[in-house]
Amino acid sequence: MKTWIPDSRNFAYLNWKQVDALPRESTLLVLPTAAIEQHGHHLPLATDTLINNLLLGHALEKLPPEMPVYALPPVCYGKSNEHIGFPGTLSVSSSTFMAVVRDLGSSIAKAGFRKLVLFNTHGGNVALVDVMARDLRAEFGLRTFTLQGSAGVKHEGLSAQEDAYGFHAGEVETALLLASVPQLVDRAAYTSNYIADVADEKLLRPENAPATFAWLTADIAPSGVMGDPRPATAENGARWRDKTAAHIAAALTAMVRFGA
Ligand SMILES: [Zn+2]
Repeated sequence: MKTWIPDSRNFAYLNWKQVDALPRESTLLVLPTAAIEQHGHHLPLATDTLINNLLLGHALEKLPPEMPVYALPPVCYGKSNEHIGFPGTLSVSSSTFMAVVRDLGSSIAKAGFRKLVLFNTHGGNVALVDVMARDLRAEFGLRTFTLQGSAGVKHEGLSAQEDAYGFHAGEVETALLLASVPQLVDRAAYTSNYIADVADEKLLRPENAPATFAWLTADIAPSGVMGDPRPATAENGARWRDKTAAHIAAALTAMVRFGA
């Protein structure tokens, strides 16, 4: 898989003697979690994994060299059962996902490290990552953190509809890939579906409401896209990437300093 992680920040490029020499108390390890799943007719299965790596890699570039932050190899397989029925989706169960994250947390704690952040870029993993951050804190005493998706960045230029319901293979994800791996985007194959209308104020909605119904992509978005990729541009993708990377870098810095 393509990587934007700087070699000097890539945990798996170290040997064990170099790991042994890291400051255990202050080093922050970043565990990326993502997915290999359908992203419509125009984006690759690895979209969430590529975006995770892209954003994290650009964020790590911004940190001062002396700050001890390392990216672990990603957990590429996520809980993607909302996309079952689309060929290419490789999903693990919630219990498998949580067991893998738990075992990695256990290894990290046994090596004497104290700080771990779960950086997740797949919606289906969000709830599991929140659970695991607290479980790893309780079980191993790790100081755990979470960082989700675009790290709270507002994507300027999106329509209200896309901002609310363009969350899968829509404008943002397409723009990020156009800015970084345009050869993997099939611009002739764009499709658009929305699972809800932003003007719809019904009590019961699929997302963004206090009362929700559980949905499967196949029920509501036959092409696999939830959003509209057509307005996506590489320019916006580069702008959103850089802004998000700056937010992630700031968040990682706060985590390094937290409790120090
Ligand atoms: Zn995605």
